[in-house]
Amino acid sequence: MSSADHPDQRCVTWSPSVTLVPTRQCFNACDYCGFRLPLAAAPRDWLSDGQAQLLLQGRPGASEVLLLSGEVAPGSSVRGSWFARLLVLSRLALQAGRLPHTNAGPLNRHEMAALARFNPSMGLMLEGLGPAHDAAHRHAPSKALAVRLAQLELAGRLGIPFTTGLLVGLGESRQQRREALELLALLQRQWGHLQEVILQPWRPTAAAAVPLGPAERAVMLETIAEARAILPPEVHLQLPPNLWPLEHLCQALEAGIDDLGGIDSGDVINPQHPQPQPARLRQVLAAAGWTLQPRLCVHAAWISWLPARLRHRAERLGRQLLSAG
Ligand code: SF4
Repeated sequence: MSSADHPDQRCVTWSPSVTLVPTRQCFNACDYCGFRLPLAAAPRDWLSDGQAQLLLQGRPGASEVLLLSGEVAPGSSVRGSWFARLLVLSRLALQAGRLPHTNAGPLNRHEMAALARFNPSMGLMLEGLGPAHDAAHRHAPSKALAVRLAQLELAGRLGIPFTTGLLVGLGESRQQRREALELLALLQRQWGHLQEVILQPWRPTAAAAVPLGPAERAVMLETIAEARAILPPEVHLQLPPNLWPLEHLCQALEAGIDDLGGIDSGDVINPQHPQPQPARLRQVLAAAGWTLQPRLCVHAAWISWLPARLRHRAERLGRQLLSAG
């Protein structure tokens, strides 16, 4: 429960993280995506072990290794080698004393179960529902609502601590956001595996950062409050701090945000929005009476769900993280 994670009611968590991108090539083509590289005729060029090790060495304090990948179509001739790379990179993260968290699109049952042996948590955004989301995802077959819901349900059946979320402000209505949150609440009441829901403000993929205006902030604050009211209390609510004005951060926390997610030195999805330094976040939060506490990719209340080997690692890393402050 969140109260066990947050004995101090004025505490917000974050996960020191480093992002590995196995590939940017993706068979989907979401309208707003600035991350994707189109499928090339040439063979795929996966992130190598050496490249991954260099990135891990560059972020020695990162306990979470976010494996964030462009998606490979089910049935593609390269699906097997792509998935093998996800497994190898997950093992490599563990060998480096970190915990991997994979977000690589919908996976089948066999793939999810195999990754769950190495990943204490995984993620997949629900994104949203309604005509605006359908239009933005018309060239993204894996973003179909039914596909996403099936994946979230499969994660629940397999007992995998899971992160999902909504892309807010793409053109959906308030009612459609409520319906999306109600679908997540239903899943949580059945399976209990949704450890966090990201409320991600949609930002245009402009070269320069376009900050959220007052109307967009109002929609976000309303959505945060509705999410807190609709979702069971154990589900953490996450806001990416680089997509929200720092001077208004406490408003988001008062509305229900209790987590700032994985923070790397940059954001590979929205590189034009720099990540705030944790020291700066701590300073801003302390001035308003909030504390910033590091956490693992798997939230404390779900560590007991893990297979023994992963559970012991997570418990040990969790203690190290807290003692490092
Ligand atoms: S699925 Fe992800 S990587 Fe692929 S096009 Fe959509 S947003 Fe981009």
